[in-house]
Amino acid sequence: MIRLSNIQLPLDHDASAVENAILSMLDIPAEKLVSFNVFRRGYDARKKTNIMLIYTLDVETTCNDDLLSQFADHQQVKVTPDLDYHPVAHAPVTLTERPIVIGFGPCGLLAALVLAQMGYKPIVLERGKEVRERTKDTFGFWRKKILNTESNVQFGEGGAGTFSDGKLYSQVKDPKQYSRKVLNEFVAAGAPDEILYVSKPHIGTFKLVAMVEKMRAQIIQLGGEIRFSCRVDDLHIEDGQVTGVTLADGEQLHSKHIAIAIGHSARDTFEMLHEKGVYIEAKPFSVGFRIEHEQSSIDKARFGPNAGNEILGAADYKLVHHCKNGRSVYSFCMCPGGTVVAATSEENRVVTNGMSQYSRNERNANSAIVVGIDPSDYPGGPLAGIEFQRKLESLAYELGGSNYDAPAQTVGAFLRNETPKSLGTVEPSFKPGIKLTNLADALPDFCIEAIREAIPAFNKKIRGFAFDDALLTGVETRTSAPINIKRDNDSLESINTKGLFPAGEGAGYAGGIMSAAIDGIKIAEAMALSINTKASV
Ligand code: FAD
Repeated sequence: MIRLSNIQLPLDHDASAVENAILSMLDIPAEKLVSFNVFRRGYDARKKTNIMLIYTLDVETTCNDDLLSQFADHQQVKVTPDLDYHPVAHAPVTLTERPIVIGFGPCGLLAALVLAQMGYKPIVLERGKEVRERTKDTFGFWRKKILNTESNVQFGEGGAGTFSDGKLYSQVKDPKQYSRKVLNEFVAAGAPDEILYVSKPHIGTFKLVAMVEKMRAQIIQLGGEIRFSCRVDDLHIEDGQVTGVTLADGEQLHSKHIAIAIGHSARDTFEMLHEKGVYIEAKPFSVGFRIEHEQSSIDKARFGPNAGNEILGAADYKLVHHCKNGRSVYSFCMCPGGTVVAATSEENRVVTNGMSQYSRNERNANSAIVVGIDPSDYPGGPLAGIEFQRKLESLAYELGGSNYDAPAQTVGAFLRNETPKSLGTVEPSFKPGIKLTNLADALPDFCIEAIREAIPAFNKKIRGFAFDDALLTGVETRTSAPINIKRDNDSLESINTKGLFPAGEGAGYAGGIMSAAIDGIKIAEAMALSINTKASV
């Protein structure tokens, strides 16, 4: 097939416009066009009154070869890349050792699925509960403030991304088209087909829950095993080679191929790995607040008279500002039409994050507004970033009233450095609740200074961003892992522990659902190749 990229058509184009654009671009008569499909559809909203849809199209004609040589130097005409997934290995007929995958978030899920599809019958160990039970615990915390430290927004089947906006795009390089494999698996598990072609696909919380269950069923059907409420508390290492794990209940399992895909919140497990001598480095991450505006104001600022257009949906934004004090402030994990959620996994701490449903039709838009920090801000060794996060989360708990309510402040009051007396028109969506306070006390001074400078700068890009009544809720500390479990670039094993495959967000190799899932596929392939090599010697 031939791939045509950057085909621009007006937002309100009629049904025949795509076909006409193909014929005109390739300069062929209609009889030569056999079929076409939309690989991707995005939009360019820089001119609000003239929003354009941008298509990438895969086209079949009766004269593909001729056209490809005729357009050989044309940037918009290329051969369609191979989008099929090709397994790198198959399990030996006598599989003597089953690989273990620790963690069943997007990374562990895809690692286990691909291992199962290649015949390796993986054993998945997940500290949290299966997704329906976990949903009850998570919503229970939001409604009744009863936290289950093993079953919450961070821990349980589906991982951290289950109660989320379900954004499925990533900026990681993906020459092997693993993201297509991920999207195809999601669609097979019940995600809407449109995730295959819209430029910024998202799924939303409730659909994710059902999909995760279906993917679990496939792994089991292929001979895999998934064990919930099984926290890995110890790792067995002999002569620099991993040999197994001990679970919280004392049970031991043996394997020389273990993926560790535990997400960014498994602080106790990071500590255990460090004590066992697995090589870990501190890594930069970001801290800040969630900001909420009415979604209608963001739609208007981004789309002008086209606000509310069905194809465009609820508007998102992506902002960055480089501050005078050398820090960068940026928007992160923006959730159109969603809610701010309580995302702690530890008692007496407050952490914010955001989620939405597929419809994205809640009243508010929310996004993290965070400041980049690095290990020089939290000196003290590989795990010092965790202590830094904990300190801020405990402080937020106190500022919120020591009852899991979150500290919050209107943007106007934040910019004027005063405690607001009341809320304005933007209603807080955070559950369990918020307490109005001065957030200047919630983060180090350099962060506050940077965010105070950034919000008015963002207002120049999105009119109304610095609206007095917009609301900040704190604190956002779990933007990514504060550590990196170093791995070898080729074998993907820990650089000092053979057979241990650090993976996903917790190990520092992903930041989001899609990149974590892609990393899961890479890890499955590396484990399979390693098992086969060892089986053949
Ligand atoms: P995780 O998803 O964190 O999964 C790790 C799993 O390991 C967990 O289930 C945990 O219980 C388990 N585990 C930890 N320790 C142990 C142990 N010792 N033994 C056994 N099991 C263990 N990203 C996006 O791309 N789009 C979004 O819209 C989005 N929204 C988000 C909203 C929220 C509320 C949150 C919290 C995150 C959101 N993210 C989003 C981030 C995304 O969820 C993560 O980047 C992604 O889930 C990381 O995948 P992972 O598999 O590496 O780790």
